[in-house]
Amino acid sequence: MKSGVCPKCSSREVYSGENIKMKKGAYGCNTIPLGGFLGSQAALDNYVCCQCGYVESYINNPKDLEKISELWEKVEG
Ligand SMILES: [Zn+2]
Repeated sequence: MKSGVCPKCSSREVYSGENIKMKKGAYGCNTIPLGGFLGSQAALDNYVCCQCGYVESYINNPKDLEKISELWEKVEG
């Protein structure tokens, strides 16, 4: 998806919300809860396919990823 191609429909109509304002903060509409202290949250970068509507989300902050690996349960395949 980050390469601009939708994995579901192979369209190139992929748009990134990486640089939109208010990703994080009072509205909290583009975050996921990390758990831990004071309910901290990680901002998400969303990639949307405007052909089929598929959405992919990424966390860009390495510190948030570190926190998740400490706080969340690892999925064992
Ligand atoms: Zn698509």
